[in-house]
Amino acid sequence: MKKIVKLGFPLIVAVILIMSFLSARSMSDIENYGRLINYVGIVRGASQRVIKLETNDMPDDNLINYVSSIMDELLTGEGEYGLERTGYGAFNDNLEKLGERWEQIKTEIAEVRSGHDKEKLLASSEELFDIANDTVFSIEKYSGMRSASLARQLIVMGIFCFLISIVIIGYYVREYFRLRKKTETLADMAGRDKLTGALTTERFYTDAQKMLDSTDARAAILYIDFENFKYINDVFGYEVGDAILQKYAEVMTASLRKGELLARVMADRFVLLRFYEDKELMLEEQKELDRRFMNLDVLPDKHSITIACGFCCREDVIEQLDINGLINRANYAQKTIKNKPDVHYAFYDDSIRQKMFREIYLTDRLQKGLDTGEFRVYLQPKVSPFEGRIEGAEALIRWITADGEFITPGEFITLFEKNHSIRKLDQYVFESVCRLMHERYEKGRAVVPVSVNVSKLTFYTADFIDAYKEIKERYGIPDNMLEIEFTETVACENEKYMTQIVKDLHENGFLCSMDDFGTGYSSLGMLKNLDIDTLKLDALFFRESKDLKKEQIIVKEVLHMIYQLNIKAVAEGIETESQVAFLKECGCDYIQGYYYYKPMPAEEFGAELDRQSVQAV
Ligand code: C2E
Ligand code: MG
Ligand code: MG
Repeated sequence: MKKIVKLGFPLIVAVILIMSFLSARSMSDIENYGRLINYVGIVRGASQRVIKLETNDMPDDNLINYVSSIMDELLTGEGEYGLERTGYGAFNDNLEKLGERWEQIKTEIAEVRSGHDKEKLLASSEELFDIANDTVFSIEKYSGMRSASLARQLIVMGIFCFLISIVIIGYYVREYFRLRKKTETLADMAGRDKLTGALTTERFYTDAQKMLDSTDARAAILYIDFENFKYINDVFGYEVGDAILQKYAEVMTASLRKGELLARVMADRFVLLRFYEDKELMLEEQKELDRRFMNLDVLPDKHSITIACGFCCREDVIEQLDINGLINRANYAQKTIKNKPDVHYAFYDDSIRQKMFREIYLTDRLQKGLDTGEFRVYLQPKVSPFEGRIEGAEALIRWITADGEFITPGEFITLFEKNHSIRKLDQYVFESVCRLMHERYEKGRAVVPVSVNVSKLTFYTADFIDAYKEIKERYGIPDNMLEIEFTETVACENEKYMTQIVKDLHENGFLCSMDDFGTGYSSLGMLKNLDIDTLKLDALFFRESKDLKKEQIIVKEVLHMIYQLNIKAVAEGIETESQVAFLKECGCDYIQGYYYYKPMPAEEFGAELDRQSVQAV
């Protein structure tokens, strides 16, 4: 089209120029015809006057010459009056006749002057008058024809210009819309996630807010998260992970109705704005979409993916919340079911609201709690089942608020992790343990190795070993009396990094322990690379299971393997005599569980150690 416009433009200009030239010529011709009519009229009138003067014996040669000069110019097209010859035959014939008649009249005037009869001259005068009339009519007719043709020409030119303008305007309008669409497409692309084509978070925030502001319809925000997506990436590779996200976005996008939006907020998380009539139907629809997605077999060998979806319906929110607040609540609802085996969908409701406010309250109180010593270190003994003696302990944090509320770590550890103050807390526990041990050393009392939990965030803080070493040395705690516990999941996430950390910890006189063994994945492979001192079998191993026999085989084999690797074993969460008997039989080094002791305040633990020492003596 651009090319056509480029080539067509000079052609159009040429056509318009030619048409303008022709029109100008026609106008000039018509003007000429007007003059011709006038001058033929002059010839007609002046010739009559010449004859009248001649017949009254008052000859006027000047007038005769004047008529002759006009007649000559009419016939030749050359002269002072600007009269041009025309191509119109009838007019030219009449002019010829008029010229001849005028010549005849001039001869007859000469004859009258030499005494001839005037009758002939008068008769010729009549004839000239008639011929002049015919001449005027013919040129008038011709002029009329040319005027009509000029009008037609102008109309054609007008129409042509109009059509051309329409084409040009049309072209530019089309160009304008094309560019606008292109700009819109580019803007749209900028607001979309490159991998999935879903909206970006920022775009979703603005678009969804606008949409919610524009209607009172029942609306909900859905927060969708894939469980163990990291595992999928690790096991099947990032390409498979990406394909899963793309497919899911595809399925969800196809389900969107007018005004509904989908965004990928981060990694494996999507948010949706949905309008609904009935909550149950909306839930069923979501379940059906998820089922449809699962049936696409995006994972090889029929591996399944679990999706956790939290709903926050606008009508269930008491406060006046913007889109951000709704997303937060949907996310919160989603988190309440994350990693739960049977529940995959949750609606934000009052109980979740209470829980959320509780978290906000605890987060707010955190710093104050640390400042005012509300956090206490409890110790849970690790007992050798063979001697029945306390051989060590694990330090476990407790939060006892000023008003006597007892808050367990399960409730606040994740909060501390979320707001990054866990490192402060870990270090607080570590220093408290060192202080307690130091006091006992000072008093010459029995001291056993104590393990402390160190969260993932603390591990990833560059100077954590230096800081712990400084505290250990400040309190003069001998080597191998302090043990650092990290979870199996932390160890798995960055095995290379952890190998180095374990090495550094050993070099600085710390023991290393892998906590919660059996709750994560790929545990066994890791054991050959990580030079740990202790392995803590998670309580999960000892929960009542359907097949006790199988469970016992596994525990037995794991303990056997640990023994051969020269790693000490601690069984956690042991509550019954039969469990102890079995573990003893398997050669488990230590038992940590309610069967022997619950976690207790440091003073109580100290007293228990003292009692044991006295007994030993
Ligand atoms: P963990 O390190 O695996 O600690 C063992 C948990 O099992 C403790 O829960 C302990 O009270 C509980 N337990 C021990 N024996 C039994 C038993 O026989 N039956 C039952 N039902 N439970 C038993 P607690 O103290 O609630 O701690 C929970 C988790 O919080 C700990 O799991 C640890 O991951 C974390 N945690 C505790 N203190 C700290 C800390 O100072 N720093 C960090 N980062 N995490 C901590
Ligand atoms: Mg632990
Ligand atoms: Mg544990």
